[in-house]
Amino acid sequence: MAEYHIDDLLALFGEAFAKLQTGFKDLPKGVGGVVPDPDAMKDVLFGLAERLHDNYPYFHPLYAGQMLKPPHLLAWLAYGLAMWINPNNHALDGGRATSAMEKEAVAELASMIGWGAHLGHLCSGGTMANLEALWVGRQLHPRTKTVASEQAHFTHERISAVLGIDFEAVPADRYGRMDVQALEALLQTDDIGTVVATVGTTATGAIDPLPKLLDLRERYGFRLHVDAAYGGYFRLVDELSEEARNAYARLQDADSLVIDPHKHGLQPYGCGCVLFRDPSVGRFYKHDSPYTYFSSTELHLGEISLECSRPGAAAAALWATQKLLPLTKDGEFASGLRQSRRAAKALYDKLTSDSRFLVPFPPELDIVVWAPKAKTVSEASERAKSIFFQAACLDLHLALAELPVTFFDLESAGMEPDRENITCLRSALMKLEHYEWIDAIYERLHKATEVVMKAAKDG
Ligand SMILES: *Cc1c(COP(=O)(O)O)cnc(C)c1O
Repeated sequence: MAEYHIDDLLALFGEAFAKLQTGFKDLPKGVGGVVPDPDAMKDVLFGLAERLHDNYPYFHPLYAGQMLKPPHLLAWLAYGLAMWINPNNHALDGGRATSAMEKEAVAELASMIGWGAHLGHLCSGGTMANLEALWVGRQLHPRTKTVASEQAHFTHERISAVLGIDFEAVPADRYGRMDVQALEALLQTDDIGTVVATVGTTATGAIDPLPKLLDLRERYGFRLHVDAAYGGYFRLVDELSEEARNAYARLQDADSLVIDPHKHGLQPYGCGCVLFRDPSVGRFYKHDSPYTYFSSTELHLGEISLECSRPGAAAAALWATQKLLPLTKDGEFASGLRQSRRAAKALYDKLTSDSRFLVPFPPELDIVVWAPKAKTVSEASERAKSIFFQAACLDLHLALAELPVTFFDLESAGMEPDRENITCLRSALMKLEHYEWIDAIYERLHKATEVVMKAAKDG
């Protein structure tokens, strides 16, 4: 990979900034506020740089824990450039150019799913995007229940409470996917308006069996919403399990879908996206504000979004990133996702041949989970936490996850199931560099585990 130099980037930004300013060069001088005091700003900025040291190094390959992928440098520059204008994509008056960019970028996301006609927009993140989808579901089927798997993001239950929707969790199978039989039992007894399928669960990257859920939709007539906040982009990758591929091939049959450009789409935070297959659901958003929009007769973004003010800069960053890295199967962006899959498989292979660990299943996407073996589940959970801390001392940052013990073959490991959940280790290998760093990552994991095992023996 080509190295970049921060000076080159800042120079590039300077040139782009000068070009931006030429568009406004005929304005009278002196408009635009007070000249700031650079010395006072320097003090604050240096203080900020100090304060920011109190973070894990999310940008580094040894950060291999939570879902944190650094934004693309182009996204960073594009966001900064657009921020100078600070457009508001609530309405065309507030963000003319960036509203058009939002529509283009969202259409590209829809087209990746397989949709031409669609309704969709960007929003602050997956939570807000899912809220809009569940809200539309409720408008269509009032007084019905919404269900999602036990492994779905906790936001669905909470959003349902906010919206006043009855919610129920459907049990998951031992691979963390929605149990279709359990869902059908619920469909027979309850009035279910919306079923949420997760394509790429947050804990393990599991993929709910979309083809079977769509068969059930034929018979029971619910709305199928797909939460692909994390996993959506893997639509561009063919090297997946057959079941996963079959699920991705049916994404286009969902009624609505959520994807988070700020998860795998190389965007800074504040960039989620909700998409509806049927554009006519736009009618639910209708309002007649007396003051916002006068510059267009077309339905614009402020009329199809629950949030009002939204950063046009987020749309500019996404638009620019997709221009450079189009969402195609044979492009550089998709090859980055394949690289993440490779890293996850490499880590999985190492873990399964290491007798100290118990791995529940191979990664569907790029998230790997594993537990240290011990006599009991509670001991293993304590051990996982200790390894997490020891690894951090060696600059390797992992994550912890609480998973049902039913995911693990405890019997083969001779582990006593004294708890229903096990705390295990988890790694989301989202960065391009992770594949090349797997040996270095494993070496640190090995050392941290040795320290913990030794302490367990001595203690
Ligand atoms: C991250 C995530 C969410 C929540 O999205 P935010 O962008 O954090 O608000 C919802 N669902 C899934 C599957 C996720 O991975």
